[in-house]
Amino acid sequence: MASSAALKCLVLVDEAPDLELWYAVPDDLIHRELRGCRVSVPLRRRKVQGTVISVAPVEGQEGFALRPIAHLLHPKPLVPPALLELAEWMSDYYACRLEVVVRGMIPEMIRTGSSGFKTQKAVRLRKEVAAEELEALRKKAPRQAAILEGLSPGVEELLATLSSRHASAAQAIKRLEEDGWVEILDQVQARDPSRAEQFLASQPLQLTDEQAEALRVVELDLEAEPADKKPILLKGVTGSGKTEVYLQAIARVIDQGWNVIVLVPEISLTPQTTERFKRRFALIQDRVAILHSHLSEGERHDEWRKILDGKARITIGARSAIFAPMEKVGLIVVDEEHENTYKQENPPRYQGRDVAVVRGRIEGATVLLGSATPSLESWHNTQNGKYKLVELTRRADDQRMPVTRIIDMRSEGRVRRAGQKEVATIISEPLRIAIDQRIARGEQTILFLNRRGYSPSVVCQDCGHRVECPHCSVTLTYHEGDSRLVCHLCGFQRVPLKKCPECKSGTIFLAGYGTERVEQILRKLFPRGRIARIDTDTMKRKTQLEDTLNDFKAQKYDLLIGTQMIAKGLHFPNVTLVGVLNADLGLHIPDFRAGERTFQLLTQVAGRAGRGHLLGEVLVQTFTPHNPSIQYARHHDFDGFASQEMDARRILNFPPFVHVILITARSEHERRAQFCAETLHKRLVSDLPPEFLISDPMPSPLVRMANQFRFQVLMRAKNPRRLVAHIRKHLDALTFPEDVIVTVDIDAYNLS
Ligand SMILES: [Zn+2]
Ligand SMILES: [Zn+2]
Repeated sequence: MASSAALKCLVLVDEAPDLELWYAVPDDLIHRELRGCRVSVPLRRRKVQGTVISVAPVEGQEGFALRPIAHLLHPKPLVPPALLELAEWMSDYYACRLEVVVRGMIPEMIRTGSSGFKTQKAVRLRKEVAAEELEALRKKAPRQAAILEGLSPGVEELLATLSSRHASAAQAIKRLEEDGWVEILDQVQARDPSRAEQFLASQPLQLTDEQAEALRVVELDLEAEPADKKPILLKGVTGSGKTEVYLQAIARVIDQGWNVIVLVPEISLTPQTTERFKRRFALIQDRVAILHSHLSEGERHDEWRKILDGKARITIGARSAIFAPMEKVGLIVVDEEHENTYKQENPPRYQGRDVAVVRGRIEGATVLLGSATPSLESWHNTQNGKYKLVELTRRADDQRMPVTRIIDMRSEGRVRRAGQKEVATIISEPLRIAIDQRIARGEQTILFLNRRGYSPSVVCQDCGHRVECPHCSVTLTYHEGDSRLVCHLCGFQRVPLKKCPECKSGTIFLAGYGTERVEQILRKLFPRGRIARIDTDTMKRKTQLEDTLNDFKAQKYDLLIGTQMIAKGLHFPNVTLVGVLNADLGLHIPDFRAGERTFQLLTQVAGRAGRGHLLGEVLVQTFTPHNPSIQYARHHDFDGFASQEMDARRILNFPPFVHVILITARSEHERRAQFCAETLHKRLVSDLPPEFLISDPMPSPLVRMANQFRFQVLMRAKNPRRLVAHIRKHLDALTFPEDVIVTVDIDAYNLS
């Protein structure tokens, strides 16, 4: 039956992503904004859910063929118009189907909740009940009277609670509703993830001259016409007070009635960060929405609801918070904009920072990117005038930058102390002495090693065989705590081997070291030191990280050993020593960003030292002491690093001078994956415009991952859109076997 309405709408149905389905708009919905709304629609004989993408007039007789929308799942669009526009941009730029992008914007639980939102039935009094009325009811219907008596004016009681207290409550309440005593409503219980905590209001700090100048630049942009706005890169050394600039800028925006989105890397969404925001905006604490992966389903639901109902003024979250359905967004802050966690590695594959810039443009909002070690992409954009640059060159409170010493492990590692052969290659003598001094003085130390587990490889001494994961081309890591060999890529586990699987020799040994082994060694070296370890193995429960960090802050520990989880954002005034156990770990991977990542990590880790009134010291252990990334990090010289790295990238034709697009073909069958990569490569080069660069098809650095063989083709171009069009043309013309998956990653970060 077709509706007489003259409008139709295009619906992306969740379970039939390939279909373009048009439905008639029923009369009662004709005046509503339907774009971005969640709807229930008929599909064959069933009702399914979907998102309205566009609305258009019905042409000619087609109205008779269209089935109408069944109903709206939620009165407001879950993807407001500005976000739909963003979705279209993403679909186009990232060569990803619109349906996949839109789906990625709405959290799974919101999407799959039957009504769009999970609610509970609650009961509330509609009017005051006089004593004589209650008495009369008691004679007539004692059950109804008992329920009525238990309700207080203005307080909602859950139907479930009442049912547990009174027999046949549902029936009695229904009568009470019919007679106008009570109303039954849908209630969403608010569960503020931080509600148990008391946040005392904090006052804005006195700004340094540099901070005040940065704030002024942001304010000018806030006042500028949308067409005159430009993203601002706030480049500030560690400890220079970037967050204070954000906080004061946010306060201005809130005062003017606009809303704010703040993106932070998932890893630094620590209680320390969120508390700082909640304290500064104590007056509107309940209007700050926080989104991160550690929220329970109920909490996430509540935070989303806050945003959707227009209650949230500030949304703070990891990457996907850029899709918060907020309206009137006046400012978007991206903290630690260089972080690779802003890149999403699953469809839709996007770079959250870049998407933030585009959303800012669509909304006419000011975009503020901050970092001590900006990505070369953003840095390049300040050089070519697309972004504005503001710098904080000094630490707030005039703290000095920490002093960095490089320890050459080629000589140090060989200084063997009696009975401690291995130890010297892990903790050099200068580092051991420095830690000892801190413990004696009651100061704290952070040791950084970006590798978890006990030992990263199990090696046969006789034949040199390394034990690999049966599903991936990586070695298994030994975890002593669980006495297991574990694959860090796919999670495969097995009991440790007693004999070499190749030569059956029993001389198997554990090579190299991870945080677990270092912790053990530290306990031997510093028997009186109080030691804590932070990595994904020790921080499995939600509160563990928070508790350990709080205890460290309260100086219940002398030493903290950890992975990248402790590399950034943390502020501990009593930490005067930071040790980097192996600066070379990230340097030797085949990736043009290896040097940039090492520079960033070393600078961030070093930034944890000397944040109080005591001078900080950083010791960096390395086998390649003259590596430029290490040397520039030692001197806190971003400009020097950027200048030499940019020269190299320009000559070699790598980002930020071109965009890279990684095409990967993967399959359980090695030959098929390889064949598809080669076939596609042949087609791509057959009519390749000279402005595009293409690599030969080759095995990915990690050729096998979770039972899938992977082959890749890397393409580069100044204009990614034209290259995407070229790739699409050939992809569409080819049919791949069903068991081969081809992915296209625009502005790829992970080339392995
Ligand atoms: Zn062997
Ligand atoms: Zn594996």
